[in-house]
Amino acid sequence: MAEEIEISARGELGVLTHNFNNMIEKLRDSEQALLKHQQVLESRVEERTAELLSAKEAAEAASQAKSEFLATMSHEIRTPMNGVLGMTELLLSSGLDKRQRHLADSARRSADSLLNVINDILDFSKIEANKLELDLQDFDLTETCEDVMDMIAENAQRKGLELILDVSRDTPLLVGDAGRIRQVLLNLLANAVKFTDQGEIRLSVSHSMSKDETAKVTFEVQDTGIGIEPSKLQHIFDAFTQAESSTSRSYGGTGLGLAISGRLVEMMGGRLDVKSQVGAGSCFYFELQLQRSEMQRPEQTEEKDLRGVRAIVVDDHSANREILQGHLVRWGMRSESARDADEAIELLEEAARNGDPFRVGLFDWQMPEVDGLQLAGKVNADPMIPDLPIVILSSTF
Ligand code: ADP
Repeated sequence: MAEEIEISARGELGVLTHNFNNMIEKLRDSEQALLKHQQVLESRVEERTAELLSAKEAAEAASQAKSEFLATMSHEIRTPMNGVLGMTELLLSSGLDKRQRHLADSARRSADSLLNVINDILDFSKIEANKLELDLQDFDLTETCEDVMDMIAENAQRKGLELILDVSRDTPLLVGDAGRIRQVLLNLLANAVKFTDQGEIRLSVSHSMSKDETAKVTFEVQDTGIGIEPSKLQHIFDAFTQAESSTSRSYGGTGLGLAISGRLVEMMGGRLDVKSQVGAGSCFYFELQLQRSEMQRPEQTEEKDLRGVRAIVVDDHSANREILQGHLVRWGMRSESARDADEAIELLEEAARNGDPFRVGLFDWQMPEVDGLQLAGKVNADPMIPDLPIVILSSTF
């Protein structure tokens, strides 16, 4: 703040000094007024913040109470539901006539889907009430992925969809909640099957190890289904939300699956996200940091035995050929591939002619024109091709 000037001069200089001092006085006054105003403002902001904070706490308490109520209720409903399911199973295994069986079967299917809804609500409310805890154990990620693919195989097969699992066999044993990872993957894969009418569903899992023995694992569930409109994308992770109300009518569902999966991934330290294009398909993905287990995977001795063995992969899907060949090469095998029966027969005959025949064939079962089984028949009947052990690959069995 400026200092006042002592008036010792007279005349013009004196007047000037006087005016100057007046100005300083006014400046001081307005500075004080400003300070006061600022204090009033600050205290208002404090009051408002306190009000908002207590409103937020009240809302959180109410939401927690609601979630706890839901969790208890769902549990109470689940117990008798299990009774209904168990009894229906017993009923179905007793001697029923055709109509009775049909009725009991419908009852079981309805009970099943009701139990799914209840389980979703139970999980969701447990997460909301902060009552869900992770169960960290050593687990085999490759096995978890294979299990989950098995679980959706029947539905995928029914719709004629190709299932592709791309997970490296050299993934180390890890520490994590395998049950919850399975739940998230199952939900994403079940959605992928539900919203895809033709094409393929692919689960890709890759990892990279850091120096401190932590694996950064990336999961991707990709489909060639109906896709999701850009404006709906950010809402599909909200509870009870579906991309389109018309979708729910034709596909069914509660709109809870993704909300649960998103929260579970968050609890495990990741973030569930999606890329999608209407009509082309969707890709849901997330990344987890998982500690490497101290346990060792049992030594796979057969890998050594396969070194140098020449194998032929026949599949109309280039992605499948690539994945299978990747595995074979990692096992030290020599592998080649064909996209259909004609190409396969040509390769097999040529290899025999050159005195370096294939020792094993991996044929996809579902192929257009000549399928894997028919191709196996042709190979067996071809006098130019020496005996060939054949593995038929299918998503169903
Ligand atoms: P729901 O039980 O309805 O499937 P979700 O939370 O699992 O609930 O999914 C929410 C909504 O997101 C679905 O209703 C659907 O509109 C959309 N959705 C989820 N996965 C896919 C997918 N793979 N392809 C297209 N739409 C999807």
